[in-house]
Amino acid sequence: MAREIVSDMDGLRRTHYCGEVALSDVGSQVVLMGWVNRKRDLGELVFIDLRDRTGLVQVVTESKSTPASFEVAQNVKSEYVLAVRGTVKKRAPGMENPDLKTGAIEVQADEIRILNTAKTPPFYIWDDAGADETLRLKYRYLDLRRAPLQRNLEIYHRTSMAVRNYLSSRGFWEIQTPMMTRSTPEGARDYLVPSRIDKGKFYALAQSPQLFKQLFMVAGIDRYFQIVKCFRDEDLRYDRQPEFTQIDIEMSFAEEEDVWGEVEGLVKYVWKEVLGVDIEPPFPRLTYQEAMERFGSDKPDTRFGMEIKDVTPVFSGSSFGVFRSAIDQGGTVRAIAVPGMAGASRQEIERLTERAKLHGAKGLITVAYLGGEVKSQIRKYLTDEEIAGLAQATGASEGDLVLIVASDFDTAVTVLGRLRLELASKLGMIPKDRYNFLWITAFPLLKINEETGRWEAAHHPFTSPFKDDLDKVRPDATDEEKGKIRARMYDLVMNGVELASGSIRIHRRDLQEKVFALLGMSQEEARRRFGFLLDAFEYGAPPHGGIAFGMDRMVMLLAGAENLREVIAFPKTASASCLMTEAPAEVEPERLAELGIILAKDVKRS
Ligand code: ASP
Repeated sequence: MAREIVSDMDGLRRTHYCGEVALSDVGSQVVLMGWVNRKRDLGELVFIDLRDRTGLVQVVTESKSTPASFEVAQNVKSEYVLAVRGTVKKRAPGMENPDLKTGAIEVQADEIRILNTAKTPPFYIWDDAGADETLRLKYRYLDLRRAPLQRNLEIYHRTSMAVRNYLSSRGFWEIQTPMMTRSTPEGARDYLVPSRIDKGKFYALAQSPQLFKQLFMVAGIDRYFQIVKCFRDEDLRYDRQPEFTQIDIEMSFAEEEDVWGEVEGLVKYVWKEVLGVDIEPPFPRLTYQEAMERFGSDKPDTRFGMEIKDVTPVFSGSSFGVFRSAIDQGGTVRAIAVPGMAGASRQEIERLTERAKLHGAKGLITVAYLGGEVKSQIRKYLTDEEIAGLAQATGASEGDLVLIVASDFDTAVTVLGRLRLELASKLGMIPKDRYNFLWITAFPLLKINEETGRWEAAHHPFTSPFKDDLDKVRPDATDEEKGKIRARMYDLVMNGVELASGSIRIHRRDLQEKVFALLGMSQEEARRRFGFLLDAFEYGAPPHGGIAFGMDRMVMLLAGAENLREVIAFPKTASASCLMTEAPAEVEPERLAELGIILAKDVKRS
């Protein structure tokens, strides 16, 4: 049986990795170790593609010239683990494989040892053509044998090393912080860990090291960073995982420019090290307000134009009801010009209108400039002046289709912002191989939570408000005032993705207490949850600020991967489970008893 054909390494030592055997090795003896990627049996001749993490090499054995290895090769199957001792030969002319790094040579096997057998894997390792992802995640260790995933893991490693080298060279110290802690509010639910010793009490898994890194600044550490796991229990999307990795950074005596300068240097260094790409800081800066006005998003993709324009002045005298009522109610009329889309069919326009409604608009008005004519559902309401003014304001010319949304500001720009993205990708307007970084600044300090209807911190409650807005930081501030407080917060955005987020922090107790109060937190609650931070601020806390990168997301972009699961070794599914270990799992009743926990489903019975 299979077992008996297996032998041991017995002192045989690897001389080369498979993918690294080269023409210059022709004539030498090599020892390779790896997996059988594929085997081709031609009767008197057997070819084996041997694979390790560096790539493939062709091993050949023949019944006449190498009978010993030939006999073993007969038993070999896909994914068997082999040691091969042999001689490197140049391939015969015409037999080279230009697709393979080692395609000019092959290894004639004097000896093949089967170090282990393998069952037939549930999917082909060598074939990238999508095996079912459920299966891939269940057998993740096999999935990770595949070249694209190994490449992604290598990029992850190289990114980590680049980050560490750069930040260390800039005087940042990597220091670890606790994972089991009290809640650090980053706007998500906590994962809780019950205490056995102190029954009824729970640790929270850190949503970020935010409070600890601020305390490092109080402690005089001056510059800190950490590549760190963070845990947030929230609904998952393609670019979210319940546990994810941040590059967390904090600096003392720093203002915005200092943080941005360090981050720009880091990005430049990482992109060069990992991709060999030159990035040219400083990055452009847009306020949140400008970003919303021009792109309808706080993470604009600036690789293409099609910017949103305010056409309210064009229609200020309009008799068309939708424009009229939007304007009269203090709303706005906004538009984008879609190049070359004037010939869109009625169905296409209907589809666009459906999309606009899905994104929250009541409707969509279109104006097509085609063949010297103007086509629009509201043609009869449009004056010549308005038609010309619209073209001028949006930059529309012959062949373009203008999309118009009239409503409150937020709806108008977000709807057009989304259509802008959808159409750009559909029309192939987004250049690949471009890295458009930019800073978004001056975010609102507070936002209304859609579910609870309550004001909460847009970033986290430790973000400093703008000095000019401090007069509005009062518990009795009106909603209008609350909405206008700007935060010293910034996001680093690239190609429409939020890469990093940070802020200049509050470092004085009185201001921190005021912001807690603004958030509706009682003094008692503030003291109970954040007393240690408030106390620390009274012992000489320096001004400080920082930022955190979503590292998995950054590697995903560096690797050109579509999904976070392609760069995380052992990811969770959209329902936060691990298909391989089957976590989360039930635990023994005794373990629950030790923790003093009774499950709700067992309460009735007990
Ligand atoms: N702790 C913040 C976050 O996780 C980042 C920061 O403000 O530095 O989003």
